[in-house]
Amino acid sequence: MSLTLVLNCGSSSIKFAVLNLQDKHKALSGLAERLFEAQPRLTVNQSGHTEELELSGQGHRVAMGGILQILNKLGLREQVAQIGHRVVHGGERFQQPTRIDEEVLAQIEACVPLAPLHNPANLLGIRAALEAFPGLPQVAVFDTSFHQSMPPRAYRYAVPENWYTQHGVRRYGFHGTSHAYVTQEAAQMLDLPLQNTCFVSAHLGNGCSIAAVKGGRSLDTSMGLTPLEGLVMGTRSGDLDPGIHAFLAENLNLSLSEVTDLLNKKSGLLGLSSLSNDMRELEQAAAGGHPGAQLAIEVFCYRLAKYVAAMYVPLGRLDALIFTGGIGENSTLVRAKTLGYLTWLGFALDADLNRVMIRGNSGLITQPGSPPALVVRTNEELMIALEVQEVLS
Ligand code: AMP
Repeated sequence: MSLTLVLNCGSSSIKFAVLNLQDKHKALSGLAERLFEAQPRLTVNQSGHTEELELSGQGHRVAMGGILQILNKLGLREQVAQIGHRVVHGGERFQQPTRIDEEVLAQIEACVPLAPLHNPANLLGIRAALEAFPGLPQVAVFDTSFHQSMPPRAYRYAVPENWYTQHGVRRYGFHGTSHAYVTQEAAQMLDLPLQNTCFVSAHLGNGCSIAAVKGGRSLDTSMGLTPLEGLVMGTRSGDLDPGIHAFLAENLNLSLSEVTDLLNKKSGLLGLSSLSNDMRELEQAAAGGHPGAQLAIEVFCYRLAKYVAAMYVPLGRLDALIFTGGIGENSTLVRAKTLGYLTWLGFALDADLNRVMIRGNSGLITQPGSPPALVVRTNEELMIALEVQEVLS
């Protein structure tokens, strides 16, 4: 049996999973977290059984050593044949997943100005994994590369040209692994050849983005230079007037980094509701009459519906609207409200089907004659493992 280790390294955590691609089964998953706090921890989940360990020190290297130890203890280490790393930003350099070597590391490093919070953590994780697993082939899978097929009219901002040519200021898009996976799944569910399909894919989790995907290639998406643009998210604002930065700086005496921080961490559903970034909690509060929660859900769904309509422009026609991510896969309310704004496009929700498509169920939620809307469970770890296999074969 040959296994793939998938790693997603953040600034203070490492998420990992071990997958068997023969049967697409997840043998193991886990999380090393609080890597720079007093007592970093490693949690491992195997077949519903959870084990917690204290790590012997701080940082990514110690955590990677802990993951190696666990694999040894469970007798899985020898079967791990390859490693896939989720890397947030690949700029224009990486059009597809790429096998990691020194030159690739330098190129990922060169993308740091585009993702100063994420790429350095990804690099720390890759270096720690190269040390812990010498000799194993390792592949970087980029959140951005799926969207490199966008045409200039979709990815260019209307700003001075040298911002783009000299500084890379353009729209890149993120969540590529998820959009790629669910559109492939949707083509299979509808029994359509992927190359003939036109899908709008809405990934709605803590981060949210939407993509227009034709023939398996992204033509447009809602996130931009950074993952802040587009839809309303848990704590991120999504679209706003760029003039707001100057307004806040001048009237509230905030620095640019303070404004950026507020837009990333205190806005979105949390900012609108003054209550929570968690859709489940907001739905409960809204049902109990909380006006902030009600407004947050309204703005979320209205913005999403506007973007669904906008994504018809690059596609010209639609085979299905796909809902995925924690909210897309579970929130019957968000799906119903969003489609409610789109009845003029012919969308007609089947309320019974909508109720059933929760907790891992995938399938249609619209009535016959409506443009199809589908719930598809995303699986970014599996997609990364599949991409690793493709690169290495
Ligand atoms: P993710 O980042 O994909 O894990 O998604 C997290 C989001 O999914 C959070 O806003 C959760 O509140 C939301 N979510 C998960 N389960 C449900 C549910 N049953 N109903 C509504 N929202 C949910």
